[in-house]
Amino acid sequence: MPEPTSVVRFLCVAAEHQPRLISLDFGLTVHLREWGFCPAGESNGHDWRRVEGVALETLLARRPDGTLVPAD
Ligand SMILES: [Zn+2]
Repeated sequence: MPEPTSVVRFLCVAAEHQPRLISLDFGLTVHLREWGFCPAGESNGHDWRRVEGVALETLLARRPDGTLVPAD
């Protein structure tokens, strides 16, 4: 059985929450009982935007050295 994909329903677009280097579980939080993803991994001050069920993996890009960064 494949791992269920984390589906993100909210994306943080706060201007002060600039993307940072992250690990896979970085930035995931629960907002209104659904998954939200903040590219800065902050715990508050988010500006949530509802998105149409984006798989977490598509929000991330793996760099050559193996670290994960938020995808553009
Ligand atoms: Zn945020």
